[in-house]
Amino acid sequence: MTSFWTEGDAIADTAAPDGPVETRWERRQFSAKLVNPANRRKLTVIVIGTGLAGGSAAATLGEAGYHVKSYCYQDSPRRAHSIAAQGGINAAKNYRNDGDSIYRLFYDTVKGGDFRARESNVYRLAQVSVNIIDQCVAQGVPFAREYGGLLDNRSFGGTQVSRTFYARGQTGQQLLLGAYQALERQIAAGNVEMHERHEMLELIIVDGKARGVVVRDLVTGEISTEVADAVVLASGGYGNVFFLSTNAKGCNVTATWRAHRKGAYFANPCYTQIHPTCIPESGSHQSKLTLMSESLRNDGRVWVPKKGGDDREAADIPEDERDYYLERIYPAFGNLVPRDIASRAAKNVCDEGRGVGPGGLGVYLDFADAITRLGQPAVEAKYGNLFEMYARITGEDPYVTPMRIYPAVHYTMGGLWVDYDLQSNIPGLFVVGEANFSDHGANRLGASALMQGLADGYFVLPNTLGNYLASGPYEKVSADHPSVVEARTQVEERLQKFLTINGDRTVDSFHRELGHIMWEYCGMERTEEGLTKAIGLIQALREEFWTRVKVPGVGAELNQNLERAGRVADFFELAELMCVDALHRAESCGGHFRAESQTEDGEALRHDDEFSYVAAWEFAGTGAAPTLHKEDLNFEYVHPTQRSYK
Ligand SMILES: Cc1cc2nc3c(=O)[nH]c(=O)nc-3n(C[C@H](O)[C@H](O)[C@H](O)COP(=O)(O)OP(=O)(O)OC[C@H]3O[C@@H](n4cnc5c(N)ncnc54)[C@H](O)[C@@H]3O)c2cc1C
Repeated sequence: MTSFWTEGDAIADTAAPDGPVETRWERRQFSAKLVNPANRRKLTVIVIGTGLAGGSAAATLGEAGYHVKSYCYQDSPRRAHSIAAQGGINAAKNYRNDGDSIYRLFYDTVKGGDFRARESNVYRLAQVSVNIIDQCVAQGVPFAREYGGLLDNRSFGGTQVSRTFYARGQTGQQLLLGAYQALERQIAAGNVEMHERHEMLELIIVDGKARGVVVRDLVTGEISTEVADAVVLASGGYGNVFFLSTNAKGCNVTATWRAHRKGAYFANPCYTQIHPTCIPESGSHQSKLTLMSESLRNDGRVWVPKKGGDDREAADIPEDERDYYLERIYPAFGNLVPRDIASRAAKNVCDEGRGVGPGGLGVYLDFADAITRLGQPAVEAKYGNLFEMYARITGEDPYVTPMRIYPAVHYTMGGLWVDYDLQSNIPGLFVVGEANFSDHGANRLGASALMQGLADGYFVLPNTLGNYLASGPYEKVSADHPSVVEARTQVEERLQKFLTINGDRTVDSFHRELGHIMWEYCGMERTEEGLTKAIGLIQALREEFWTRVKVPGVGAELNQNLERAGRVADFFELAELMCVDALHRAESCGGHFRAESQTEDGEALRHDDEFSYVAAWEFAGTGAAPTLHKEDLNFEYVHPTQRSYK
């Protein structure tokens, strides 16, 4: 089986200090070299992405006085996918006085990630979480408040405290507006140059360091090169490799994959989060799926009929014939078990023939009790926009009939490998937000992606990037440097190739087929046999893509088929690596469930003795066996145990 990969040298995160976890970040900040404010304006940093991670990073670096060049492919920085985030953002403020603390958030996150995350990173995340809320409140983010005026909290999965701050079901939008205002201020001040509708298509490496990018103007098709002293990737997640996901249609892997091809390690690519509460797929015409926020599980109760094949309307099924299976199996956490657990439980009851709705691929999320207990206006105040969205999409009124939900691809815990400083193994290449692999292990707890993106962008990167820049100055790179010219030529040739294949299949048809393979064999449940089969299918489809794809139009204009072709070509290579990673990890953990590795009662069975490491993959060529570098994970504080939410 090892012919699918080869094993290389072990790696380690040498940037994190050791000693007491509580003071590691403070000590790292103190040991980091500083750049004198007067010298900062002489240094240029490229930031790819304007979501919560990239927007907050660019704004903060601009505020600090660096010269920042910021890129996004949308027509405005504030249309980054972060705007879609619904439910909330965690912070260990303990406003509810319900036993929360930095240590508990750290503990919950390491445990929730199924003991596959670094303790140092997670502790820092929990520490910084409290600053994020203060920063956002100061920016005017309208978090929900209680009657007395204090910030309100609710609960998310995998926790027994209320630590999630929210702005109705639009938390991402409000947080992004905060970051966007800060960014716009720096644009107006001349510290940040904003390049909307530009897509990074290649990384430029000079003398082993990341020194720039090749970008395409998506409106005119013009290709240009940009050089800098450092490059930050904040390009988001790659869930759209599955074609159907809750992500925005534009989300893609190109920025990180191009860096991977140039030597950046890709860590834990198989760790995919399948979110339990999404509106079920309604047919083959569909191009995306819609999330119903996890916050709904605070008040909604999940159930299916006790009897298989029961096709009565929900209202006609009496109480004693309903199975509130999460409350039954996991009484301690009930409906708020983590996402990986809730998704698998939904799959199990549907596999037993007890699913509801078309095709039996759905379970109920029922608010009848909450409406009786709190009254409809209170439920509406908390979740109104989500209920409205559900009603518009399904034509059903969730105040009257329970919602129908089913798991869907939502978030990718994997990403480019970074050390404690958020620097990849390529010096000068930093990666923040969902694009890196850093903090969530094998399963991300709800409301922690926004926390991580903003922690990275507002607080961590501005310190650690300064340390790298202070080690310079690095030699200036000119536009005619051979590495710059080579990267540009690679981009031009690739685009030309897409345009000249002139085959007979659309880009989308390939993407859809790839997505089916991934969902079938690398989705909620994986087996050795299925993954091996998937690798063969992906390789064959990739070859077909490069001979049969049809990309109409030309390069020197707005050409969305051309944009998609590049993204799907990268998804093919990523998909293969995801399957290899899933194949090599012969254990179940978090979002990665290997059917061969489960407990007697069907729970995920980890093998800490063999797999307690980060799998960091090195690119070896298209279709060639990648090289695996292992970074051992050590647990000094939260000791790995069988994860139980019972
Ligand atoms: C429907 C939904 C709801 C969610 N709700 C929550 C929630 O309630 N709480 C929570 O914590 N998390 C939530 N998440 C997860 C969270 O929203 C994301 O993980 C997070 O917003 C990602 O932020 P980011 O800044 O890393 O990336 P993004 O917001 O995805 O931004 C990526 C940026 O990179 C740019 N980009 C990408 N590639 C290129 C390229 N090649 N060239 C130029 N620019 C590029 C894009 O233009 C964009 O500006 C939700 C996710 C979804 C899908």
